Amino acid sequence: MKVLVCNVGSTSLKFKLFDMPGDKVLADGKVERVGREDAIFHYGNRSTGYSVQLEGQSIPSYAEGIQRYLACLTDPETGVIADVSEIERVGFKTVLAKGFYGIHELTDEVLQAMEDYLVVAPAHNGPYLEAIRQIQQVLPGVKLVGVFETAFHTTIPKERRIYGIPYEWYEQYGIQRMGYHGASHGYIADVLTEQCGGTGNAISCHLGGSGSLCAIQNGISVDNSFGFSLQAGPIHANRIGDTDAYVIPYLLSQGMSIDEITRGMDKRGGLLGISGVSNDLRDVQIAAEGGNERAQLAVDVYCAGIIHYVGAYYAELGGLDHLVFTGGIGENSSLVREKVCKAVAHFGIVLDEEKNAQRSNQARIISAEESRVKVWVVPANEELGVARRTYEYEK
Ligand code: ADP
Repeated sequence: MKVLVCNVGSTSLKFKLFDMPGDKVLADGKVERVGREDAIFHYGNRSTGYSVQLEGQSIPSYAEGIQRYLACLTDPETGVIADVSEIERVGFKTVLAKGFYGIHELTDEVLQAMEDYLVVAPAHNGPYLEAIRQIQQVLPGVKLVGVFETAFHTTIPKERRIYGIPYEWYEQYGIQRMGYHGASHGYIADVLTEQCGGTGNAISCHLGGSGSLCAIQNGISVDNSFGFSLQAGPIHANRIGDTDAYVIPYLLSQGMSIDEITRGMDKRGGLLGISGVSNDLRDVQIAAEGGNERAQLAVDVYCAGIIHYVGAYYAELGGLDHLVFTGGIGENSSLVREKVCKAVAHFGIVLDEEKNAQRSNQARIISAEESRVKVWVVPANEELGVARRTYEYEK
C-alpha cells in the first residue's frame, strides 16, 4: 500500500511517500514559505537519487504545494508511481481534537473536534485544518488518517491524567493531561523493541524546538511531561514549560491582556525568554561560553527540567533499563546529554564520553559497557511512526 505522510507547519509542508509494509520511502518533498511568491520547492526520488530544488516559486496554498509534489510523483521521468490513484491513504501527524485522542479517519466530525480545541494548540491545529481541507479537494476519495500526537499516550493511567481541578471541568471541557509527541515516542518504543526485544522500563527524551519526556513501560506510554496543552514540561525553545497557573490571573490583574500573555507564553518564553539571546540552543550555548550569565542560566534551567522528569519517571517506573535522547537537541547536543546523565548517575548510568561526542545518523548506545542503564541516541523518525500507524489503521 502506498501511504503518503504529510507534515504540516505554519508555513511549510513536508511529504514522504512510503511503500508499506516494509517502511520503504519512495520519494520525499518539501515546500517552504507556503503562501508566498518566493517559496522553495524540493522533490527527491529515493530510488534513482534524482532530486530538484526550485527557489522563487509562487506557491500560494498548501493545495498548490501538494499538486506540485503529485506532479513530480507521477512524471514518467522523475516519478515513482504511474497515477495518483495508487496513493491509498494519507497520514497526518495531527495534534489534538476534543474527544478524539487516538488514530482516526479525518471526517468532518473529527475536523470539527480539532476546531473545538484550536485555542489549546493554535500553532498546530490552525495549519493542519487548512492543509487537510485543501488536500481533501486535491485527493478526493483517498482515506485521510490523523495519527494524533495524543494517541500513544491514551494508555497513561488515570491518576496521572487527572488534574486537581473541579471535576466538571474535566467532564465538560475534557481538561486533563493529554501527552504529545506521540509519533516520536512511539517510534522510540518501536526501535527499542526491534533492537532489544522489548522496551522494559524506558525514558524517551524528545528534545527539539519543543521538548517532552515519556515514561514507557513494556512498549506503552505511562506518562508524558506535556499537559492539556503543549505548554507544560521542561522549558522549550520559545514556550514556557511548567509554570504556576496563577501567574495568569495575576498578570491579568496588572493590566496585561490575554493576547499579550499567551503571546509571551508561546513566543517569548523558554530558552529565548531566559537567555534573551535566541531560541536556538546552539546560539545560547555559544553566548554562555562567552560569559553571558542569562544564557548560562537558560542552559541550566533547560537541563534542570529534564533531570526533574527523569527522576520522576524513574520513581514511577520503579527502575530504568533505557534512557533515550532524540530530536534536534537530543541528537546533537552532547553537552545536554552529559549534564543530564551526570546528574542521574546514581540511577546506574555511566556515559562513555567518547561515544557521547561522536556523531552518527544511526541509532546508537552511548553508555559505557558497565552502565546498568543503556543510554541511546536515536534519530527522530516521526514520519515513519505516522506511516506505520496509518497503514495499520483499520486494515
Ligand atoms: P523541531 O522541534 O522544530 O522539529 P528539531 O527537532 O529539528 O526541531 O530541533 C531543532 C533544535 O535543535 C534547534 O532549535 C537547535 O536548538 C537544536 N540543535 C540542532 N543542532 C544542535 C547542536 N549541534 N547543538 C545544540 N543544539 C542543536
